[in-house]
Amino acid sequence: MKKVTTVCPYCGAGCKMNLIVDNGKIIRAEAANGVTNQGELCLKGYYGWDFLNDTKLLTPRLTQPMVRRQKGGKFEAVSWDEAIRYTAQRLKEIKQKHGPRSIMTTGSSRGTGNETNYIMQKFARAVIGTNNVDCCARVCHGPSVAGLQATLGNGAMSNSIGDIENSKCLLVIGYNCADSHPIVARRVIKAKEKGAQIIVCDPRRIETARIADQHLQIKNGCNMALVNAFAHVLIEENLYDHDYVAKYTEGFAEYRKNVADYSPEAVEEQTGVSAQQIRQAMRTYAAAPSATIMWGMGVTQFGQAVDVVKGLAGLALLTGNLGRANVGVGPVRGQNNVQGACDMGVLPNEFPGYQSVTDPKIRAKFADAWGIDVNQMDAEVGLRITEIPHLAIEGKVKAYYIMGEDPLQTEADLGLVRKGFEALEFVVVQDIFMTKTAEQADVILPATSWGEHGGVFTCADRGFQRFEKAIEPKYNVKRDWDIISLLATEMGYPMHYQDNQEIWDELRSLCPLFYGATYEKMGELGHVQWPCTTLESPGTQYLYADNHFDTPTGKGQLFAAPWRAPAEVPDGDYPLVLCTVREVGHYSCRSMTGNCAALQTLADEPGFVQMNPVDAQALGIRDQQLVWVASRRGKVISRANYNERINAGAVYMTYQWWIGACNELTQDNLDPISKTPETKYCAVKVGQIADQ
Ligand code: SF4
Repeated sequence: MKKVTTVCPYCGAGCKMNLIVDNGKIIRAEAANGVTNQGELCLKGYYGWDFLNDTKLLTPRLTQPMVRRQKGGKFEAVSWDEAIRYTAQRLKEIKQKHGPRSIMTTGSSRGTGNETNYIMQKFARAVIGTNNVDCCARVCHGPSVAGLQATLGNGAMSNSIGDIENSKCLLVIGYNCADSHPIVARRVIKAKEKGAQIIVCDPRRIETARIADQHLQIKNGCNMALVNAFAHVLIEENLYDHDYVAKYTEGFAEYRKNVADYSPEAVEEQTGVSAQQIRQAMRTYAAAPSATIMWGMGVTQFGQAVDVVKGLAGLALLTGNLGRANVGVGPVRGQNNVQGACDMGVLPNEFPGYQSVTDPKIRAKFADAWGIDVNQMDAEVGLRITEIPHLAIEGKVKAYYIMGEDPLQTEADLGLVRKGFEALEFVVVQDIFMTKTAEQADVILPATSWGEHGGVFTCADRGFQRFEKAIEPKYNVKRDWDIISLLATEMGYPMHYQDNQEIWDELRSLCPLFYGATYEKMGELGHVQWPCTTLESPGTQYLYADNHFDTPTGKGQLFAAPWRAPAEVPDGDYPLVLCTVREVGHYSCRSMTGNCAALQTLADEPGFVQMNPVDAQALGIRDQQLVWVASRRGKVISRANYNERINAGAVYMTYQWWIGACNELTQDNLDPISKTPETKYCAVKVGQIADQ
């Protein structure tokens, strides 16, 4: 038996764990004493590994390269040589005929690691010649990145996961940590035990609301109005830090004007939160010696998400809750390596290390390092994954190379996404399971899984952590970056790396923010938070020390926008709001957790639609009854789940079920800046399926 130290492949909490391997098979997982998890794991950490033993519960593992030479034809098993030759040939033809910007690529925020994401964006930029590379951050915390970059200069969590328990006030908005990041939720409980005030803003009485001192049960879709009212109270009641605002921020006069109309009394009816509660929340937040704001998808998956993130940063700036330990702004990133995918430049506007693609000096630096003519590089910002369905239908995107993502399950308005896929000429899927997207591919490139390779992940608090290979792959699969390198070489750009560290050292040399994060420093249980700019630096626990912000002027930017209504509001035909949520036992498209026996027993297809009993009974719907849920875009089967913790007038569904996929119903109203869809709000109706 051997014990291999790795990092959990699910959420961004970054829990360190040991896989116990016997005779080439993983037999159990144990918690390791990592910096973020301190010897604890949630159930996904303990039971989320046995897909590696090929349990075949949900979908089969991809075991060999396959090609489908005609649309609608059958997959044909081919050799790796043939798969690489065919894929390279098709991509070259499309590039020649339609130009490099007709090809879209994705990185992956899951088990594949930072090295692979670096190689994928290098492939897009150096081999294809496009900035069309993106990842699922687009559909989750894209607005956090954009909003925080604009206000504070850096798109990541300003604080650390370990800091949370030492904060004296936690303002938790649109974030159900008990389901999304159970080990982060432990820190919230510890903060409470240490005497912190907990303020929760959420339409549901989520687990955190149960232990909260104040629960502001906001109506769905009103975040901007509430955040503006918070700012209004801080200013009107003179609770803000005048000295801090004067020294370290810009834009106060305009900001004050923009929130003037948002008195708590003015937004009471709209938000469903009493003026007294709004005032009390801000009195508590402003009085705390240290205060932290935490948020999740309940902030970011709206058509006005970037504005709300800017507003939340404004609250921290008004009260001086930045630039020291135990305070800050914490967008808690969802997937285990979504922070890393962004760090590695799997973004259409930034090279690795958050260096702009529109800066000629930066382009020249990367062109020089990669040995290509700078004129071959795309000087414009590339496409976002949420734009692809529309652009494919318009004929502007012809090929899509998708690595470790499942847009045909996870993106909003699946009917639209399917039309986009039908219009594409060539789809390559590089993955570990036959996902819904893989089923539509022209070429399948089977990759090794987490557990079968090593690398570096970045957890939600900017912490780089190494994970190790535990077992040998059983099938005819290759490491992700080996596959991409073979394709690059076949397309005329030789790419040869010996190992992960060679890739890591190349990217470190090009990214000042990461330069000091060496493999050695990350060690076995190491957790090196960027910025880590020198070999001597231990990394950075919190951003903006000395209250210097990474904005062009060095000052925090105060910003407030008027509230905008969601794009589709309930009416007589579709009287309920649908909001998509997470559940603790499964993750994302479920391709991994759905193939783990212990997790598979936790819930069953077709998933649930959570309903307030008042709404359900008005429709004559019993608890656990099969129902249909319909929006203007689709109709799915689900199972009614009475839930008194949710607000009347809204229903909640998780998005991973194949039958009852709630993204058949959601809409792609995109935030104008981040292009993130409004999957937290659309209008639906629910009805009984004939008595069973
Ligand atoms: Fe894995 Fe997240 Fe659970 Fe930790 S909290 S064990 S990282 S899923």
